[in-house]
Amino acid sequence: MATIAENIQTVRANIAAALSGADRAVLLVAATKMNDADRVREAIAAGVDGCGENRVQEFLEKDALGAYDGCPKHFIGHLQRNKVSKIVGRVDLIQSVDSAELLRLIEQRAAALGIVQDILIEISVAGEAQKSGIAPEELSTLLSAAATCPHIAVRGLMCVPPIVPEGGSNRPYFALMRQLFVDNSGKKYDNVSMDFLSMGMTDDYTDAVAEGANMVRIGSAIFGRRQY
Ligand SMILES: *Cc1c(COP(=O)(O)O)cnc(C)c1O
Repeated sequence: MATIAENIQTVRANIAAALSGADRAVLLVAATKMNDADRVREAIAAGVDGCGENRVQEFLEKDALGAYDGCPKHFIGHLQRNKVSKIVGRVDLIQSVDSAELLRLIEQRAAALGIVQDILIEISVAGEAQKSGIAPEELSTLLSAAATCPHIAVRGLMCVPPIVPEGGSNRPYFALMRQLFVDNSGKKYDNVSMDFLSMGMTDDYTDAVAEGANMVRIGSAIFGRRQY
């Protein structure tokens, strides 16, 4: 079995190939759920650009062990309202903001801490009802809301598209995300910049990169398939 470091090399090589000559940096965020502090440290030593956790409790436990030392921390899972205070100010980027209410709570907490919290807006790009994320049509409303939040910096967009369909691909969804990203790059909302387009996981990151991702979130291809 390949080591974590070897897997990361492979992922980097696949990203480079998917760029097919495009001159764009792609940040590799390790999705570290269900991997213990030692395995997280191994990934950091091998040079990932960030670590993303899904669950607040799991993040807090590993953070207390210093698992992420030296590496940017991202929160990538669904953030419940009552957990906002545990995450704001403790992570570098909250990737999964998907409501005006969540924006308001993050703003409140960041203001109390005297910080500016970087976030991404999560888009439900395939319109799956059970998934987190706002509909693409709601984006301008949410960015307008963010413009009134001086303790929030929206840094871009994120999506978790459907599980790659048999024989199909998520490329149309990634292309739609890219379009939203570009369309909103030119607009001048306060507290909003389009720096990061976070899309692509183990089964579809090369398509995501080919369609313009500059941040991918990879779990299984780095750590092996998770055993639930
Ligand atoms: C688990 C997870 C990933 C990575 O999933 P893999 O398919 O294992 O690469 C990426 N993003 C989010 C939000 C996740 O929960």
